[in-house]
Amino acid sequence: MSARILIIGQGLAGTALAWRLRERNTPFVIVDRDEPLTSSKVAAGLITPITGMRLTVSWRYEMFYRDALRFFRDCGKRLKQRFFFPRGYVRLLKNDQELAKWQKRRRDPDMPRFLLPRDPELSTDVFHDPQNGFQQRHAAWLDTTAYLQASRVFFESLDAWRKADVRPEDVHDDADGVTWNAQRFSHVIWAQGWSAQKHPLLHWVPFQSALGTILSVKTDLHGEKRIVNRGCWLLPRNDGTSRAGSTYEWTFNDPNTPSPGQVRNLEATLRALMIAPAEVIATQTAVRPIIKGRQALMGTHPTHPRVAFLNGLGSKGSLRSPWLARHLVEHLLDGAPIDAEMDLQQNSV
Ligand SMILES: Cc1cc2nc3c(=O)[nH]c(=O)nc-3n(C[C@H](O)[C@H](O)[C@H](O)COP(=O)(O)OP(=O)(O)OC[C@H]3O[C@@H](n4cnc5c(N)ncnc54)[C@H](O)[C@@H]3O)c2cc1C
Repeated sequence: MSARILIIGQGLAGTALAWRLRERNTPFVIVDRDEPLTSSKVAAGLITPITGMRLTVSWRYEMFYRDALRFFRDCGKRLKQRFFFPRGYVRLLKNDQELAKWQKRRRDPDMPRFLLPRDPELSTDVFHDPQNGFQQRHAAWLDTTAYLQASRVFFESLDAWRKADVRPEDVHDDADGVTWNAQRFSHVIWAQGWSAQKHPLLHWVPFQSALGTILSVKTDLHGEKRIVNRGCWLLPRNDGTSRAGSTYEWTFNDPNTPSPGQVRNLEATLRALMIAPAEVIATQTAVRPIIKGRQALMGTHPTHPRVAFLNGLGSKGSLRSPWLARHLVEHLLDGAPIDAEMDLQQNSV
């Protein structure tokens, strides 16, 4: 049959897939169970070149960023709404050890293109000890809630969005395609985030998903618009509130309940960053889909060629989903090979 694709999950992965199919004039139906708190809805949407304790440039950053920039701008134009905002990003160094590490790292050949030569010059009325830091460029944040909601409304207008909790046993695949809800499709793509660890066809994928919490904060930043990080990041949003985060919990009982100790630690780190009073007005928690030792996995199932997956976006869904979705769509529609490092089949056991 000609291509008609069923997408399960309207998080960052599923939404980008739907847009990529739309670009290719390929019909699709996207199904989501419409949970109030998911990883994509909770995410701060940060897109940052130099990350983590190691202070290195994020894996294949330029490749992903180029696609993300164009993709979110095009979506914004089509939906007549802006949800992608390039922003300066200030990283403050915690102590002499981190400063020494940075003095070495800043000489890495791939660093200069992501650094602004000026000192950050943060206000001492807002931040504690705002010296010893550096400014990154080619950083941004995505208003994920606005992007997901506007995309959903658009897909609904195409009659291509459905609310349902799809059980794997209700999706039947054969040599020619897939049947769900009495409808035929050429392929199904499961883009269901961390819930995929319970999918019977994926029992061999080493998921190691992490619970994450972010705080919504009211504070006076004296007009500061840049993202600032020391121990935790603070993101000034356009609605006058800020977000601060985030935690990583590797064991958890409930996908939307953090351990109180983790929230207290995050609040303490925020207080160590800021002099200005910051009132926590909400906390939000969800599970990031992480696959051990992999940046993401995608492709068709080794023994079910009509069943495809895109998962394991970790803490980089905003940056990577546009490129990954394009790559998977090119694989399904044109037979283009999947990048070996992210190929589900080459990583199957
Ligand atoms: C606290 C926190 C902070 C984060 N901050 C950032 C950040 O700053 N920058 C960044 O890039 N990323 C961030 N992330 C990570 C980012 O959110 C993930 O990379 C991304 O959300 C993964 O998207 P996904 O579509 O794979 O999964 P999900 O967002 O989990 O989406 C899956 C969707 O599928 C639906 N679904 C699942 N099973 C079914 C089913 N059987 N039937 C129907 N629907 C189903 C779910 O309801 C959900 O809507 C953060 C995550 C957390 C938790």
